Amino acid sequence: MMGELTCPTCRAVHALDDIRWRCDCGSFLDISFQPSLERKKIASRKPTMWRYREAIPVRGERNIVTFDEGFTPLLRVMLDGYQVFITADHLFPCFSYKDRGASVLVSKVRELGIRAVVEDSSGNAGGAIAAYCAGADIPCMIFVPADTSPGKLAQIRAYGAQLKRVPGTREDTARAVMLSARASYYASHAWNPFFFQGTKTFAYKVWEQLGWKTPDSIVLPAGNGTLVLGAFLGFTELRRAGMIDEIPRIIAVQSEQCAPLYEAFTTGAASIPHVEKSDTLAEGIAIADPVRGMQVIQAVRSTHGDILKVSDAEIMAYTRKMWHLGHYIEIPSGAAIAGTANYLKSLKDDEVIVTVFTGSGLKSTEKILRVLDSPAQC
Ligand SMILES: *Cc1c(COP(=O)(O)O)cnc(C)c1O
Ligand SMILES: [Zn+2]
Repeated sequence: MMGELTCPTCRAVHALDDIRWRCDCGSFLDISFQPSLERKKIASRKPTMWRYREAIPVRGERNIVTFDEGFTPLLRVMLDGYQVFITADHLFPCFSYKDRGASVLVSKVRELGIRAVVEDSSGNAGGAIAAYCAGADIPCMIFVPADTSPGKLAQIRAYGAQLKRVPGTREDTARAVMLSARASYYASHAWNPFFFQGTKTFAYKVWEQLGWKTPDSIVLPAGNGTLVLGAFLGFTELRRAGMIDEIPRIIAVQSEQCAPLYEAFTTGAASIPHVEKSDTLAEGIAIADPVRGMQVIQAVRSTHGDILKVSDAEIMAYTRKMWHLGHYIEIPSGAAIAGTANYLKSLKDDEVIVTVFTGSGLKSTEKILRVLDSPAQC
């Protein structure tokens, strides 16, 4: 049994293999699915995210689109005198953790016989969907804001995807793709529930690498929350399967320049408030209108976690600290590290903490040069 598509809003249930990326009522969909895994079987397989095969709702082996990705290193890093674990997800084939979601989503797209997809992103999700579509020989069209890093634009084009640069904000790009998504299948990292069946492998991997144990806390960046929700899903499945006792606390980190989840969490609002978004170095996590926003908040609450916000100055300081330790991450990745540093300050007891390098610096050379060349920033 590989589950069903379920609507959290109107409670409708759709078959897993229905070709739809949202409910008739307009809501996003989830997948109800409870896998069961065996540690011995997992340990005997290749070191890729597909070693958690039973947890991934793709039926046919021949539909799997993979570059043997995802068993990324779990590094021990000293952060302000405290040892934390960092998942090196900037080392994926497309250089960000978005490959987790893209590998599963595009595998499902192939399984469903879908002939073309559209996606929008600030760069990394678009690159990942374009790569896996190239691997599956499925045409795709990727919408990005016009000011996306040239490195990301080049990558998307190199895979053979059709690139649409949209003038204006990230939200303008999201509106532009919606028109195309009426005719094409929307391979969206924010909307499509199969994407989260991939990002959840983050949880399985961390659990295995810690010796089949859960950390006390995980600190993750949150814009749309694709990693937060994926990790929550993975740990929830592990607990239901009786493989772990407790789900780690989830600490989600937002940019101060665009923090609607933080606002809703701290005020107890029943919906995601409208926020004024200002320019930030962490453009990749500056999502003013997160599709699954309330779902993120419920997930964080249910783990007794927290949502923090960090300033551009903190993001830059911790990005630079990581660079100086030899980790070439992109600037938005520094947000999770800055958030971890803030979280450490509030600790009363020792904890096992896991955070993440979400993306590589190699795709945003021009942004990195700008901060390296600016004396004020260095
Ligand atoms: C996508 C992305 C994020 C944030 O992911 P959300 O799904 O928006 O929460 C963080 N860092 C990098 C490098 C990303 O590509
Ligand atoms: Zn519905």
